Order: sequence, then C-alpha cells, then structure tokens
Amino acid sequence: MNPDILKVLYSREDIQAINARLAAQIKADYAGKNPLVVCILKGAILFMTDLVREIDDYLEIDFMDVSSYGDATISSGEVKIIKDLDTSVRGRDVLIVEDIVDTGRTLRYLMDMFQTRQANSIKVCTLMDKPEGRVVDVSADYVGTKVPNEFVVGYGLDYAERYRNLPYIGVLKPEVYAK
Ligand code: 5GP
Ligand code: MG
Ligand code: MG
Repeated sequence: MNPDILKVLYSREDIQAINARLAAQIKADYAGKNPLVVCILKGAILFMTDLVREIDDYLEIDFMDVSSYGDATISSGEVKIIKDLDTSVRGRDVLIVEDIVDTGRTLRYLMDMFQTRQANSIKVCTLMDKPEGRVVDVSADYVGTKVPNEFVVGYGLDYAERYRNLPYIGVLKPEVYAK
C-alpha cells in the first residue's frame, strides 16, 4: 500500500462491486438508446473506463475538463471549461460521469450547460457522493456510495495531482498535507 495512505475506505474489490451494480442499472435504463457518456476529467477517468467495460451495449464516450474558479468567486458557481466536448450534445442522451459530488457546483454548471445545448436527456452517475458538502440543490441519478465529509484520494482522485493511480480509495495521513 502507498505509505501516504492512512486507511483504505474502498478496496479494489469494493469498487468493482459498486461498478457492476451501477453498470447493470445504466444498461437497463439506456436499453435501445445510444447514450453519450461524458467523463469529467481528470478525476472520473478510472471510474469511467471501468464502468463502460461493464456495459455491453451501444454508447459513445467523450471528455470534458472543468475547473472551479478560485475561492473568491466560488460562490458564483462559475466553472471554467479547460477542455470542451468534441461531440454535439444536441438531441443526445447525456450521462455525466463524475468521481465525486461535493458542493454540487460543478454538476449544476454542467447540467445547465447541456440543457442550454439542447440535450435530449441529462443524467448523472457519480462514484461517490458527499451529501454533507452540498451547497447547490443537485443530485446524481446513479450513486456508487455516499462518503462522509473527509478528503479522499485514489482511483482517479488526487491530492496535488498525486494518488490518481491508486487502485483503491483512501484517506491521507495528516502529515502529507503538512509537506
Ligand atoms: P463540487 O461538487 O464541489 O463542484 O466539486 C466536485 C469536485 O471537487 C470533484 O469532481 C473533485 O474533483 C473535487 N473533490 C471534491 N471532494 C473531493 C475529495 O474528497 N477528494 C478529492 N481528491 N477531490 C474532491
Ligand atoms: Mg470531478
Ligand atoms: Mg482535484
């Protein structure tokens, strides 16, 4: 195990079980459709790739990278697009795939934008949900697991760009933040 990890919250096996359950729901709900799976970079990359592998049906994949503006303007809910989709969402059944929903600002922004761009439907699949962190009223349609209000890393999620490659989700030792 990575020496910076204090404890593992979700093992590789836990995550696989979550993904299988979510994929089965998504496959059933989108039967006969060709959804556009929108992976929100970078955090959702491992989750998305494992999830779609479990969905043996038609779908397309695209990527979007967004970041919140600094703390000073965060209350505005302004989100900056770093990389936009290659695909038009007009008339598409969009499934946003997120790593974790915290304040909900990122999700609110994306959902409003896809609405404006005239998607046919917009749903959200998130691996983790932190309901205690919510500032704007938004919820995901598919939730892997609810997590308490602590900072998690691994399986796509970073601290200062590290730990995304860990195959499990855990919390960091306090001294790592002090470095
Ligand atoms: P929000 O819902 O606040 O707009 O933002 C969600 C984003 O904040 C997530 O996609 C993720 O990038 C980041 N985030 C929120 N909570 C955590 C966490 O516990 N760990 C990590 N690594 N990122 C988080
Ligand atoms: Mg994210
Ligand atoms: Mg991050």
